[in-house]
Amino acid sequence: MKRALTALVLGCVGSGVAAFAAGGQEPPARVTLTRLDCGATKEPRDVAIFSDTSAYEGVKKSLVASCYLIRHGDDLMLWDTGYPAATKTDPKSPIAMRSTVVEQLRALGVAPAQVARLGISHHHGDHIGQTRDFPGATLLIGQGDWAALTATPAATGFGAPDPVPVAHWISGGGKVEQVRGDLDVFGDGSVVMLDTPGHTPGHHSLLVKLKGRGPVLLTGDLAHFQENYDTGGLPSFNTNRADTIASLDRFKTMARNLKATVIIQHDPRDVAKLPPFPAAAD
Ligand SMILES: [Zn+2]
Repeated sequence: MKRALTALVLGCVGSGVAAFAAGGQEPPARVTLTRLDCGATKEPRDVAIFSDTSAYEGVKKSLVASCYLIRHGDDLMLWDTGYPAATKTDPKSPIAMRSTVVEQLRALGVAPAQVARLGISHHHGDHIGQTRDFPGATLLIGQGDWAALTATPAATGFGAPDPVPVAHWISGGGKVEQVRGDLDVFGDGSVVMLDTPGHTPGHHSLLVKLKGRGPVLLTGDLAHFQENYDTGGLPSFNTNRADTIASLDRFKTMARNLKATVIIQHDPRDVAKLPPFPAAAD
């Protein structure tokens, strides 16, 4: 029995060494991160709604919507798809859009069909607006957000999920991976969707480990601007206050431990933390 156990242990160690050797022959995939412009407020907007403790009464701020292209070797993934493309030609929209995601990708020499994965931080219309332009991609979205998007009757009001841009996936036309907890997207720890519920039930943030630049943490809408991030401020329309506080605590602790660059996706001051488009951080 003892001998059998020893053999088993040695067998495990042996196969581990073999796997390491095999892995050593294959260099890790190169990972890059490019910021895409997915809209910006034309005028500073009232931000009182981003605090349920009246921290921003009468305060106005400019906000941006950021999307990101992640290259992992030959695999392409988008993180969030911003406001709808129609925003660009809508003079009445409070959001300015210089070019759509598809147009920005074209400038990078990337066709929509090359994007295999759409990682979605959450179900709000300023994060999934251009999803419909990538019908062949697999949607990676928190299980709680997918449940909200597909609920009947659909929720209404401010902060309600926006099912229109993902109708193709809801109807079964596209592949959906409902994410429970964290998701190591490529299986090597380089790109990880982090379970950070509270803004919405299935909200996720994204960790991208870059070889040169080091780890980058993209907030999703865990915080909308630096002051809210610093003070643990919470939007009044979040779906769960306690979950948001716990998620912020996890995210900030991870940022400290990894010495990561934190990028608040809606804060214009964080745009310059990555190289200006079309350049990529790596
Ligand atoms: Zn947002």
